[in-house]
Amino acid sequence: MVLECKHVWEHISGYLDGNLDAAVLEEVQKHLEHCEICSAILDSTRNILILTADERVFELPLGFSERLHARLEAEMQGFSYGAAAAGDEGDT
Ligand SMILES: [Zn+2]
Repeated sequence: MVLECKHVWEHISGYLDGNLDAAVLEEVQKHLEHCEICSAILDSTRNILILTADERVFELPLGFSERLHARLEAEMQGFSYGAAAAGDEGDT
């Protein structure tokens, strides 16, 4: 089984919570060792959790993981299309 980045993202919250199956955990860790993107995402996700924990609010806001995934998707598209296309979408 080879995990793609998207699969790793789906497991990041479980990874940080320590909820992953041993087999999945091993694959995620293997992926993180060689993937800078996912390592960076893991770091920033962990930072968010630490900041949250610091305010003694441990529950993630509703929709957090959905928003996280949407953001990750957007970031990946940024990688594909190149940074030049990073403009606001008009609403007209
Ligand atoms: Zn990755």
